[in-house]
Amino acid sequence: MIAGGGGILGLIGVVVALLLGGGGGGGGFGVSQPGFEATSPQVSSDLAGQSCKAGTGPQGRADVFATCAFNDVQRTWSTIFSDAGERYQPATLVLYTGQTRTGCGVGSSAAGPFYCPADQRVYLDLSFFDDLRRNLGAPGDFAQAYVVAHEVGHHVQQILGTNDQVAAAVRKKPSQENELSVRTELQADCYSGVWANTAQRAGTIRLDPGDPEEAIRAAGQIGDDRLQKAAGRRVNPESFTHGSAEQRITWLRRGLEEGDPGSCNTFKGDV
Ligand SMILES: [Zn+2]
Repeated sequence: MIAGGGGILGLIGVVVALLLGGGGGGGGFGVSQPGFEATSPQVSSDLAGQSCKAGTGPQGRADVFATCAFNDVQRTWSTIFSDAGERYQPATLVLYTGQTRTGCGVGSSAAGPFYCPADQRVYLDLSFFDDLRRNLGAPGDFAQAYVVAHEVGHHVQQILGTNDQVAAAVRKKPSQENELSVRTELQADCYSGVWANTAQRAGTIRLDPGDPEEAIRAAGQIGDDRLQKAAGRRVNPESFTHGSAEQRITWLRRGLEEGDPGSCNTFKGDV
C-alpha cells in the first residue's frame, strides 16, 4: 500500500513505458531523475547492521527478519540501479506497533504495511505478520519478505517518478484513481518478484522449494476481492485499490520469472 499518493495511468502508458525502459535501451531500465544526495540505509530499531539470511524463518524475531529482508531488498535494488548506471537512494524502515506519526499523517496498524512517499519510509507494524499467518492463511518466511519487498517497490516507484506521475494523472482525472492505484500496486508486486529473482541469482537469498508459492499465496490472500469478501462485503472491482488475487499473482509471478523491472509495466493495456 502507498499512503497519500493517489493512483496513476492513462498517458502514463507511454511515459512509464519509457521510464521503465520501453525506449531506454541498455538494461531496459531508466531513472527519470539523477540521484540527489543518498543516505545510508537505516532502520529505526537497533537492528541495523545485524546480519541474517532471508529464508531462515521468522519464528524467532519478526523484527530481525523484517529488517534483514528490508536490507536485502534495498541492496538488490541498489545493484539493479547501478547496473543501469543509476544510483539508488535508500528508503528507511520504521518498525512500530499500534500507531506512529509519519510524513503522510498518522499511521496505524489497521492500515497494514505502507510506504510514505513524503518521507520515503516504509512503515511496518509487526502485528501484520501475525495477521498474515493467522487470519490471511499465508504463513511462511518468504511471504513476509514479499510484503517488505512490495513496500520497497513503492519506493522504487518514487525514485523513478512513477508516484508523481500517478498523482498528477489523478489530479487531472480523479475518476481514474482506483484504476491507477491498482496498476501502481500491481507494479509493486512485480517489483517484489524482480527482487526475489535478482537476489536469488546473486546468492543473497536462497529460495526454498515452495517459497514462491508462499508469496504468491500471500499476494492472493491480500487481493482486494478476498479482503472484501473476508470483510463480508460484496466484491466491487470499482473500489479495488490493490487488484484482485489473480492480478496480483500474475504480476508477482511475472517479476519472479523475468527478474527485469522492464517487464513490470502495469500501466499499459489490460492488467
Ligand atoms: Zn502497496
